[in-house]
Amino acid sequence: MSDLPPLRDVISRHGLNASKALGQNFLFDEQLLDRIARIPGDLEGESVYEVGPGPGGLTRALLRAGANVVAVERDHRCIPALAELSAWKPGKLRVIEDDALKIDEAHEAGHAHIVANLPYNVGTALLVRWLASESWAPWWKSLTLMFQKEVAERIVARPDSSAYGRLAVLAQWRSTAKLAMNVHRSAFTPPPKVMSAIVHIEPAEAPEGATIGTIERLTAGAFGQRRKMLRQSLKSVPGALEALEMLCIDATRRAETLTVEDFVSIARAIDTKA
Ligand code: SAM
Repeated sequence: MSDLPPLRDVISRHGLNASKALGQNFLFDEQLLDRIARIPGDLEGESVYEVGPGPGGLTRALLRAGANVVAVERDHRCIPALAELSAWKPGKLRVIEDDALKIDEAHEAGHAHIVANLPYNVGTALLVRWLASESWAPWWKSLTLMFQKEVAERIVARPDSSAYGRLAVLAQWRSTAKLAMNVHRSAFTPPPKVMSAIVHIEPAEAPEGATIGTIERLTAGAFGQRRKMLRQSLKSVPGALEALEMLCIDATRRAETLTVEDFVSIARAIDTKA
């Protein structure tokens, strides 16, 4: 792999000027990319689903780590550059030209680690979809995802902080979520306006008796009006006020004071009554 042409050459040869509309901010530093590829653990022989490979910097690092990669990229301009990588490691990289929000990824990728450096809106939408999986354990083995730093902080946030909300509860009620690495804006070409950070999430055992549907309704209600007391914000969630009473949780508290375990207990109380 060391004799691959530099990424900057690949970009100029294929005319891959970064597109703002597609949220393209590329990473070129091989050492940084190798560090990112190590976050999921030893990838030798493991399946990886990469979303948004672009010109293939992170893809190269995943292949160097010995992974079998399925990558989905929406920008057709990147496909010939990625085909060169497939030719370099025959049988190790399959590229799908499509929108990651639309494909049947579990079918395409199998039981895989997911690794992605994505635009903010696409990344958050996919994260919520992956975390809201009905079946648990999910089809993915782990998530290693780049976000703008402020979003990464919301995912790993603890109660009693302004960052704590729906994303934190979704990411923590049956998974472990950690901030794996900060990435300075200057590491990207072109540099984005804000700092970035990589979050690593691994599925854990789901607590019994609570369903994702109820967790989603509860967190949408509670954090939809986060400054209001629970007795107001949870009014529209069937069974929630009775559950608070049963669990002796003071209904004058606000959502951000509840722990993830509190949300699970409330969801369980609602689900077992339903
Ligand atoms: N992985 C490369 C890197 O780290 O240098 C590129 C990262 S760039 C921030 C995001 C990539 O995601 C771009 O190549 C962009 O075209 C692609 N992308 C954006 N939206 C997408 C979508 N909905 N489905 C698949 N790829 C998408």
